[in-house]
Amino acid sequence: MTAPTTWVTGAAGSAYDVDNLPYGVFATADEEPRVGVRIGDFVLDLAPAAATDLLEVAHVFEQQSLNPLMALGRERNAGVRQWIVSLLTDEGERADVEPHLIPLAEVEMRMPIEVGDYVDFYASEHHASNVGKIFRPDQAALLPNWKHLPVGYHGRSGTVVPSGTDIIRPMGQRKAPTDDAPTFGPCTRLDIEAELGFVVGTGTELGGRVSIDDFAEHTFGVMGLNDWSARDIQAWEYVPLGPFLGKSFATSISTWVTPLAALDAAWTDLPGQDPEPLPYLQVDGPAGLDIEIEVLLNGHVVSRPPYRTMYWSPAQMLAHMTVNGATVRTGDLWASGTVSGEVAEQRGSFLELSWGWREPFRVGDEERVALEDGDEVVIRYTAPGTGGGRIALGEVSGRIVPASE
Ligand code: CA
Repeated sequence: MTAPTTWVTGAAGSAYDVDNLPYGVFATADEEPRVGVRIGDFVLDLAPAAATDLLEVAHVFEQQSLNPLMALGRERNAGVRQWIVSLLTDEGERADVEPHLIPLAEVEMRMPIEVGDYVDFYASEHHASNVGKIFRPDQAALLPNWKHLPVGYHGRSGTVVPSGTDIIRPMGQRKAPTDDAPTFGPCTRLDIEAELGFVVGTGTELGGRVSIDDFAEHTFGVMGLNDWSARDIQAWEYVPLGPFLGKSFATSISTWVTPLAALDAAWTDLPGQDPEPLPYLQVDGPAGLDIEIEVLLNGHVVSRPPYRTMYWSPAQMLAHMTVNGATVRTGDLWASGTVSGEVAEQRGSFLELSWGWREPFRVGDEERVALEDGDEVVIRYTAPGTGGGRIALGEVSGRIVPASE
């Protein structure tokens, strides 16, 4: 059986074919923001298409966030996806649907989700080891708990911003070990963390837990995520309670959210877990994601972190996050932690690329250790699609603007 082909101009065989179909919230010059789905270089305006078809769930597309759509749950979302595929592949639908396709150039993408709680993990063994070696060269690279549980912290959901938002260089306290006293001023070691974000579709009751097997039931989809990090502020503040102001000034997410169903062909085995984790964290079968990441600084690729190298799976992160009975709600967001591969050109942060600011890395004709004002970072993601080609996840971009003093 051959997969259905879309009639949308330029979409068949592209990275945004009918095996992708990410959702987002878009606005046009004369209408309120609402939910759309991307096909090729167009946004399909779902609200009028759903009204024409008298779709029972049509109201979820008239909203300014994806939360009501996500809250429908896995089964009803599978139905919505099937409906969209039939609209875009059935020639008989073309006359009705084509008027609701809007070129991407004519829309402004908005924040796609209303973020509930936000948690950031630390799931790459290469990243955690690199950071350990840079900051604690005389100790074991990994702390004793690292291979027994996915380490994480609670971040600030109110400052999760959509791709394209300018990032204001944060102000703060910093103190190098050699300084006598802390000083206050603009961050001097502004960094990125190339990560993947996961968003909760349907939540849990207080006291409930999401088992490894229920991951897909509760997870709506995936997005690109950049955890901007002020390393000098972080280094001085983080002991003993973890990241705080060094992280909370901004976290960027892609404006397109890729539903989990689009990643059916991307699942792959984890690199291997030793020691075997406790029973509630044990996975059976492919639990990792084969997603390729590219980090561009001012248009130059500076790194290609491979997500398949991540030690902990997203299902293990969700299981761990709820094992104590803490709820998750629609719109809760969790991030994977910096994705870093084994070799230097796969490192997902500038801290690692410059090995603790000591080895400047090339960016075209220039060199960097940390971000400078005016720098623009774009992170791109691709994965195997169910149609045999590769699909693109939404990209995450941000430009650094000077601190407001
Ligand atoms: Ca992070």
